[in-house]
Parts: sequence; C-alpha cells; structure tokens
Amino acid sequence: MIEKNLSWDRQTEIHLDPCPFCGKKPKMKYIGNDHIRDKVIEISCWGCCKMRVGALHHDFNWIEDTIQKKWNKRTDAERTDQ
Ligand SMILES: [Zn+2]
Repeated sequence: MIEKNLSWDRQTEIHLDPCPFCGKKPKMKYIGNDHIRDKVIEISCWGCCKMRVGALHHDFNWIEDTIQKKWNKRTDAERTDQ
C-alpha cells in the first residue's frame, strides 16, 4: 500500500476567496486520513461561517476540489445578493 503524504502545505495549492461577510481569509482543516473511509475537510473563517464537505469513496483531492468550488461559488452568490 502506498502511503500518501498528507501535509499542510497542500493548502497553498488551493485558492479560497475571503469570506464575504467578515473579509477574513478562511482556513482549512483536514479531519481523518486516507486510511479511514470517513474524510472531512472543514473551512472556517474564524467566526461567522463554517463549511464542511466529507466523502466516503473519494480521496482528499476530490474533497479539496469540491469544497473549493463550493466556497468560492457561495462567495459570488452572496455578493450578487446585495
Ligand atoms: Zn466570515
């Protein structure tokens, strides 16, 4: 079995827009690892918002991609709402 290196450096590959409400840069938190089925990535902006995406049958790359799109899309939607 090939062990994948989960490093916090991976955050730099991901572009997250700042929170539309407080303007803070969100941080990502990895919960779980590739050896267990239940994996979750949580994005939080230190207060007002929190978003979680989890996966059973995908790896962290998939979750990163999904939550990145979701977060950035949400930001755009909120802006046009104003
Ligand atoms: Zn916020």
